[in-house]
Amino acid sequence: MKTLLPGSTLGILGGGQLGRYLALAARRMGYKTGVLDPAPRGPAAQVCDFHVRAPVEDEAAALELAKRSDVLTLEWELIPSPLLRAVSAKKPVFPDARVLEIIQDRLVQKEFLGKEGFPQARFKSAASAAELSAAVADIGYPSILKRRRAGYDGKGQSALGGEQDLPAALELVSAPCVLEEKIDFEREISVVLARDQKGNVEFFPIAHNEHKNGILRLSSAPAPISETRAREARDLAAAAAQALGHVGVMAIEMFVAKGGALLINEIAPRVHNSGHYTMGACAVSQFEQHLRAGLGLPLAETWLLSPVVMANLLGDLWTAGAPRWEPLLHNPRARLYLYGKDAPRPGRKMGHFLLLGGDVESLRTEADQILRRMGTPPGR
Ligand code: ATP
Ligand code: MG
Repeated sequence: MKTLLPGSTLGILGGGQLGRYLALAARRMGYKTGVLDPAPRGPAAQVCDFHVRAPVEDEAAALELAKRSDVLTLEWELIPSPLLRAVSAKKPVFPDARVLEIIQDRLVQKEFLGKEGFPQARFKSAASAAELSAAVADIGYPSILKRRRAGYDGKGQSALGGEQDLPAALELVSAPCVLEEKIDFEREISVVLARDQKGNVEFFPIAHNEHKNGILRLSSAPAPISETRAREARDLAAAAAQALGHVGVMAIEMFVAKGGALLINEIAPRVHNSGHYTMGACAVSQFEQHLRAGLGLPLAETWLLSPVVMANLLGDLWTAGAPRWEPLLHNPRARLYLYGKDAPRPGRKMGHFLLLGGDVESLRTEADQILRRMGTPPGR
């Protein structure tokens, strides 16, 4: 294993907010950075030393990035695997194309987890209208139909509460889907961990995740779960990272079902929105930890510096112009992270903030108040 020291160049495939904070972590430590992204001045390109401007599917452009980098990583698991294989033939890439090939397709991911004995919601392939009927007959209602590829933030999903929802589901199966049982969960959590090239694992404190319309709204740590449950979640997550042979940060989203059983929802083989709280509330951020794993450095300790709530700032807050910043910026325990995106759209992640100190319950209430006040026009 080769260790890459400061002065080496990190290439990042994909130039959104995850790429931005990977690049900033690398820069802080004295590494050079380059990014592959089609936008002229995307969130990562703004902070990188160089920018190869092309879609992340463009193999020639990815090879150009590889030529100028010593090691590469990605911020998006949907990078085409042939491209990733071509790049890995030239320069080291983490995580490996093999990991991406399993994760990229929901059905392959679920089959892999099933074969390895991990607990998850019951599921069935639904690649056609006929398969959908068979899957509905087997899984029943309520269930959720999900496109196998390219879903995020709840996109490419359709809830099935009964027969009335079948027409929408039939539209969705124009591309291959998987039908899964809807879990009546107590809460959602994620284990964000890092695995290094020798197989050592470090965990971040478990996050409690709250979604609205399929989009992450709040993440908080420490999660309100017992130490026994937390240990069980960490063991499952580490076993999944080990089974995949992953190197780098990985986020394992889980449901805590009513009654307490843990089920894996999905795996992201990269830094993750539910790990944003680590940048500002932990001894090391998920971004630095990811780099350390890939650069051949030992993993850092991850302890929590303070109870924390992370709240996403979605484009909806920009509907009537810029949001009101005072409720956030005038709060001495709030930290703002804006991604430098110039086109706010409803549901688009524009930034996030952390709220530190006190206890998680009061922080959640306070975060809600801040969000409400940011979206309220002045004078009301
Ligand atoms: P992201 O990539 O943003 O995490 P995604 O589009 O890949 O999201 P999922 O994680 O599969 O989608 O689903 C988004 C959210 O929808 C989940 O976090 C959960 O709140 C809800 N959800 C998804 N599947 C189920 C299920 N089987 N039972 C209950 N709720 C579910
Ligand atoms: Mg998810």
